[in-house]
Amino acid sequence: MTTAEQTPTADYRFKAEVKQLLQILVHSLYKEQDIFLRELISNASDAMTRLHFEMLTNRDVLDPDAELAIRIEIPEVGEDEPKKIIIKDSGIGMTKDELITNLGTIAQSGAREFLAKLDENDELDPSEVIGQFGVGFYSVFMVADEVRVVSRSYKKRAKPAAWVSDGSDEFHIETADKADRGTEMHITLKKDAAEMASEWKLKQIIKKHSDFVRYPIYIGDEQVNQQTPLWRKRPSEIETEDYSNFYRQMTMDFEEPLLTVHFSSDAPVNVRALLFIPAKREPGILASRKDPGVMLYSHNVLIQEYCTDLLPKWLEFVDGVVDSEDLPLNVSRETVQNNRLMRQLGKMIKGRILRELKKLADDDPEKYAQFWGEYGRYFKEGIAIDPTAKDDVLPFFRYHTSKSDGDLTSLDGYLERKPDSQTEIYYVTGDSVTSVANSPHLDPFKARDLEVLYWVDPLDVLIAPGLMEYKETPFKNIDDADIELPETEDEAKEDESEATLPEKAFNQFVGRCVTALGDKVIEVRASKVLKNSPVRLVAPADAQNKEMDRIQRLLNQDYEIPKRILEVNRSHPLVANLANLVENDPDNELINLGIKQLYDSALIQEGLHPNPADILPRIQQLLTLAAAQADQT
Ligand code: ADP
Ligand code: MG
Repeated sequence: MTTAEQTPTADYRFKAEVKQLLQILVHSLYKEQDIFLRELISNASDAMTRLHFEMLTNRDVLDPDAELAIRIEIPEVGEDEPKKIIIKDSGIGMTKDELITNLGTIAQSGAREFLAKLDENDELDPSEVIGQFGVGFYSVFMVADEVRVVSRSYKKRAKPAAWVSDGSDEFHIETADKADRGTEMHITLKKDAAEMASEWKLKQIIKKHSDFVRYPIYIGDEQVNQQTPLWRKRPSEIETEDYSNFYRQMTMDFEEPLLTVHFSSDAPVNVRALLFIPAKREPGILASRKDPGVMLYSHNVLIQEYCTDLLPKWLEFVDGVVDSEDLPLNVSRETVQNNRLMRQLGKMIKGRILRELKKLADDDPEKYAQFWGEYGRYFKEGIAIDPTAKDDVLPFFRYHTSKSDGDLTSLDGYLERKPDSQTEIYYVTGDSVTSVANSPHLDPFKARDLEVLYWVDPLDVLIAPGLMEYKETPFKNIDDADIELPETEDEAKEDESEATLPEKAFNQFVGRCVTALGDKVIEVRASKVLKNSPVRLVAPADAQNKEMDRIQRLLNQDYEIPKRILEVNRSHPLVANLANLVENDPDNELINLGIKQLYDSALIQEGLHPNPADILPRIQQLLTLAAAQADQT
């Protein structure tokens, strides 16, 4: 026998952060007192789900045939006595030790986070957020002077025990009598919460917060929650608000989902599904569903709470319920994974979700952009992991482009706009839309009014090698030195008019570039395509997987700046001025500094510079010189 078992009652002190939390809850008055019931019902429901899963593999539990249900009672009390309510469940129950740990001494990171949250925002009503921190149980002290938790574990040999506290610094553990499995919360209400001891009031709260709890909630003999699974109803019978309520009760996510998909089918597979795409990728501390996957039901019985085998990984952010009568009730993990039916089911659901997403993209581009910002990375990672996902996900990709003016465009939109003569999908890579928008590689494309996709997400670069083509049109990086573009009228004219730098001066300048940059570059040569930019870096024709260079820089793995060809724009004024200096004042410091700066700027532009901040001292030097020379003139 342990010491605790010898003594019928024992005192324990709450963890410091729980004590602090209780202080707040006990001593303040909050408008949303009601939510204590939601929290206790949600705990009861969790406890029954845990039992349910235990019983899939182990029937040797206490009261195996007891109905899984929540029962609320309002005991009669004398006129002057405090009012009471009792909330009972037939869930997994708690042993004495579990009562001690779960309700008082467990290290409560949730309590800490909760207190921090209150600290940083004093407008916040604690009752609105408490359930989101895994400390929902304590919300009972918003309405209770005393709480007595009597529990009996599903383990046959465990004895019942009681946990008692008035919400002060400590709690007591006592022996208790309880013959059946589960937990009872005996709540002695505070005076100002006495109104809770009314069937009407309790019903109202349950309707509002717990209507879709998956176990019946009884007050007396009457079941008060709807519990008819919403996904089994016909969409035409359902109001938008019902979906919102259901979603909120299921996830405890208080933001409206980005997309709700509800459908049913009887062939080739029977399925009722109600699925959601949450507004935010991160479930956050607030959500009650913390893992990816959908809830899998068969014949209205939950068989898997987080099923990730149904949908591809790149759709794992989809939450909700999939219910199929064709699934056997006793599915194990393995059968779920290898089941032909599951594959059929998965394919069908994936198809439905993508169809609805397409609709969203067509009807509400703004909302779709929100979706893409939140979940685009899943689709990209999807291709990285499984290139065959390309056909499914590429139509959903969105990019900024040289012509999209801040908006996002799809690949289909791009293909539609491109001239028939254009046979490739052009893209340019870099670190951000703004840096890429000024890329020198764009010069010849702007001159020809050709649209170029901006690939500015590291993942764009990562998956580039696997993309190859979209609808039979290959992707093409425009930093390619040998890209073939038709001549523009301007260029034809310029070739004739000798407006550019004379051959000799230009060659002299190129010579200086070679000396100044040494083996940082493979070659320095005149550019045929640059218009507005003085120089650009291009990869030599034999460069292997140029995208890898950028990935390596991002990952910081033994990064070495790759060697490129420096192309110089003969007709750019900056080049002309520097060439002038080379001819007339060859010792001027500005020349070498200028050349090195041009090179570094080009590296940054390419997303290849290991540390852009390194150039700042040189910029200062350049400014000093420029200011001094301006002063002399
Ligand atoms: P959370 O539900 O987020 O874990 P709570 O503060 O609401 O946080 O509950 C704390 C813990 O107490 C639960 O995780 C569970 O282990 C235990 N618990 C609470 N209520 C019950 C109950 N009715 N049956 C069994 N265990 C419960
Ligand atoms: Mg809880």
